[in-house]
Amino acid sequence: MYRSELRIDLGAVRRNVRTLLRSLSGAQLWAVVKADGYGHGAADCAGAALGAGATGLCVATVPEGLALRAEFPVARILVMSPAGGSREIVAARDAGLELAVADAEIPEGVRVHLKLDTGMGRFGLSEVVTPTRNVVGLMSHLATADSDAAFAERQIERFRELTDGHPGLTRHIAASAGALRYPASHFDAARCGLAVYGLSPFGEEPARDGLEPALRWESYLAQVKLLQPGESTGYGRRFVAGRPTWIGLVPVGYADGFRRDLTGTAVRVAGEPRRAVGTVSMDSFAVELDRELPVGTPVVLLGSGVSAEEHARVAGTITYELLTGIDSSPERARRTVTDA
Ligand SMILES: *Cc1c(COP(=O)(O)O)cnc(C)c1O
Repeated sequence: MYRSELRIDLGAVRRNVRTLLRSLSGAQLWAVVKADGYGHGAADCAGAALGAGATGLCVATVPEGLALRAEFPVARILVMSPAGGSREIVAARDAGLELAVADAEIPEGVRVHLKLDTGMGRFGLSEVVTPTRNVVGLMSHLATADSDAAFAERQIERFRELTDGHPGLTRHIAASAGALRYPASHFDAARCGLAVYGLSPFGEEPARDGLEPALRWESYLAQVKLLQPGESTGYGRRFVAGRPTWIGLVPVGYADGFRRDLTGTAVRVAGEPRRAVGTVSMDSFAVELDRELPVGTPVVLLGSGVSAEEHARVAGTITYELLTGIDSSPERARRTVTDA
């Protein structure tokens, strides 16, 4: 028996891509599949996204790009973070990857996108450097698309000013949030990650933007026991039963990506919402039950009514960090792909 199962619905990925394309009304959509497709599996999701109309793929690193190239011989693949030295640049060139470049030194023989800093204050040039030989795109990134619309609009305007004199180069600044809610940010292409996987970049209910979560994470009750008043479960005795209390032990913990700060969040046991109680251990956590349930009862950790947004709120983080923290390696979990 697997400790947990990660089920990815590629049908949902495809529907999310189509939803984004409708919102983009003519601009291209490039699917961002860095960090193993936000924990969903980069190659599977890239294939589904391309099949649904995405026209490019984005990753963070050259090794991620090389791995994808092996699966997708002709897809356009952009590496968004600075390449790690000349050896990576040569490998990228040989594999036909495109590189984002954030300084005035433009490598030879490889197609590049100049990264402009319009207000994010991270990697980026303050203006377009010439000559633009080898340059195929101009890009930037919004710092506040989910929090400060006025600043986002200023960045979009700055990007327009910086890039207006360069027709023929592909301009792109929008990520998921821009694609969904800032029409002025669409330009020629949008680099969408989170929304492709069906989550809201605004930390809201995904259905509000017509999105459908593609990941379901499920485990089971590996043991069920009755705590007597005064007995506790877990490190530090953070949960002490005040009355006779049934608890179930779920064989998933923070080493699997069920974070230590998720104590108190809701999961679904036999379809009903139940709280995680006590300290989350490395390899297990406890849920409070309202009655005795059989060992093997399914526990849904994510998806099917268990929202990543609620987990993120409880943990004081964002869904991006939760998803990329899930360990989908075969030693920890079974990964299955469906196509509904
Ligand atoms: C990760 C990333 C994206 C995708 O952002 P989402 O909010 O997940 O759509 C786009 N552009 C850059 C530069 C990124 O690093």
